[in-house]
Amino acid sequence: MVHTIARAPSVDRLFAAPGNPGMAGEADLLDLDLADLEALADAAIENEVDLTVVGPEVPLAEGIGDVFARRGLLIFGPVAAAAELEASKVFAKEFCNRHGIPTAAAEIVRTAEDAARAARGFGLPVVLKADGLAAGKGVLIVHSEDDLEAALDELFVTRRFGAAADRVLVEECLEGPEVSFMVISDGTRTESFATSRDYKRVGDGDMGPNTGGMGSHSPAFALDDGLREEILETVIRPTIAGMTAEGREYRGILYAGLMLTTDGPKVLEFNCRLGDPETQSVLRRFDGDLAAVFADAARGQLEAGCMKWKDEVAACVVIAAEDYPGSPRLGDIILGIDDAEALPGVVVFHAGTVNDGDRLLTAGGRVLSVTATGATLADGLDLAYRGIRRVGIRGAHFRSDIGADTLAMKDRSHA
Ligand code: AMP
Repeated sequence: MVHTIARAPSVDRLFAAPGNPGMAGEADLLDLDLADLEALADAAIENEVDLTVVGPEVPLAEGIGDVFARRGLLIFGPVAAAAELEASKVFAKEFCNRHGIPTAAAEIVRTAEDAARAARGFGLPVVLKADGLAAGKGVLIVHSEDDLEAALDELFVTRRFGAAADRVLVEECLEGPEVSFMVISDGTRTESFATSRDYKRVGDGDMGPNTGGMGSHSPAFALDDGLREEILETVIRPTIAGMTAEGREYRGILYAGLMLTTDGPKVLEFNCRLGDPETQSVLRRFDGDLAAVFADAARGQLEAGCMKWKDEVAACVVIAAEDYPGSPRLGDIILGIDDAEALPGVVVFHAGTVNDGDRLLTAGGRVLSVTATGATLADGLDLAYRGIRRVGIRGAHFRSDIGADTLAMKDRSHA
């Protein structure tokens, strides 16, 4: 978002709080604590900030939207009552059921005994979800009695997720291709982001454990116009209208994680922010003034057709530290970002990096993402991979097959 907003014609000064080394060339970094909402509002006033855009979910759930509104500051991101769509999976499930929005059948439980009974009622495989925010780790897919035992232990005995698992959803396991769909809403109207596909498993061929995301491309190709309209009609519009009807007007990004089942698209989850690493690909294709669009949405004045996309394909490949997603090793030297960005069309985004004097070191599991645009998916992927091979980090790894399944599908459909 910083990369895209920095290029918006309406923007003459940009701050990032706290930001990261990759943003330093684009924005003034403010060393602020995202938990201190009043201090963030103070900084916005001191720096005469016209618009604040919120990236992560935690400050939204904690009410940054409400604090800024109370202090007369324009902010793009839902108020806490609206961000509950992401912050409470129980709220989201009951909301979907109240408004006839298709979602996996589920039971809400508070004890291990009730969870076990509900799980056996659905039959295996079954999905257990902590109600609250768990940094994307609170969803446990249970395939066997042993998995069930382990999941109940994590949720109710060792309480790995703390109070986030005071309530737990036991949910039918849906099958089908999974897609994500992102829109911007001003409380009434919505405009869609370009489609994207992301890759969550750590290894090639979708093997190995889940991660925060190892790569993406935009468009998704599998989401055709008919399917997009169906998702808008059955999920997105009823969600925005339902939130307004419940006094929780939704202004911000709405991200729906969906399973395309044989009975149509069904909601797996909502996020109240852009998804990573889909956004890296999607925003490389944005064609317009993102700050102006966000400001219009924040004011409740989103213009129809304001989201335009370049007729290019974007690809993103994530490079992760050794042993990610287990306990990644940190503190390794990162080399070669400038060489990667010397390739026309390549942009590198930082995630887990930190400056140490004049060295750049790894500071998180997912370190960087290398993005590229091209006329075709094959071109974009080829360029992203040429870029990532110029980056040097000891022990780091990346998937070598981002987009390969989509290319194969496109070949078949052209055959
Ligand atoms: P969530 O954070 O709710 O999206 O869950 C994380 C991942 O778990 C999703 O991206 C899906 O791959 C999977 N998942 C969640 N709910 C279900 C479900 N009801 N059936 C099958 N897979 C699911």
